[in-house]
Amino acid sequence: MQIKTAIFVKSSGKWQECPEPEIPEYAFIGRSNVGKSSLINAMMNHKDLAKTSQTPGKTQLINHFLVNENWYLTDLPGYGYAKVSKSLRKDFEKLITNYILNRKNLVNLFVLIDIRHTPQKIDLEFMEWCGENGVPFSIVFTKLDKLKPGAADRNVEIYKAKLLETWEELPDIYITSAEKKVGGEEILKFVEKTNDY
Ligand code: GDP
Repeated sequence: MQIKTAIFVKSSGKWQECPEPEIPEYAFIGRSNVGKSSLINAMMNHKDLAKTSQTPGKTQLINHFLVNENWYLTDLPGYGYAKVSKSLRKDFEKLITNYILNRKNLVNLFVLIDIRHTPQKIDLEFMEWCGENGVPFSIVFTKLDKLKPGAADRNVEIYKAKLLETWEELPDIYITSAEKKVGGEEILKFVEKTNDY
């Protein structure tokens, strides 16, 4: 998919404040610092559409971007930042879960995972929750360029094996580097294929 236009629409502090759900929507989520803003910017061919390297945990808003005038790309707040207070974490959780469960036009959620890390409880639990609630999601490994190819492949295999302990089937998996502009096109292909409103 060629990106002709990518425009910031609005930030919402509640799912009810999000733009009218009249076109398909694809949301990106992951732990703070996973590389979400960088990947969004790389995919959109934009230097600073999504803000990179903000104070982790500070972005508590849902950001909507209108792409090619026919779908929304949604940047969800990062989860799992240890330094925010418990009550703030609860607020994040509520914002994210309410959004996911209520957003009628949400086609798919892209769950970002740093390819360097072993499977983390918080990500596995989040995906488990998606499964329990029938929320379609894919996994997007980030920062591929930070590992040698062999190590990256190994980590992906470890992750798959971990998922297969609880899942019968694996979700779609994308392997990306915002730095090297790898993998974004596959995500956009998926959007193109499923965006048939
Ligand atoms: P966010 O908090 O998930 O939005 O993460 P950011 O996009 O702000 O990225 C966090 C840090 O990881 C920044 O220092 C980025 O420069 C770095 N980063 C993000 N993506 C990549 C990548 O693909 N390769 C490398 N080498 N660094 C990355």
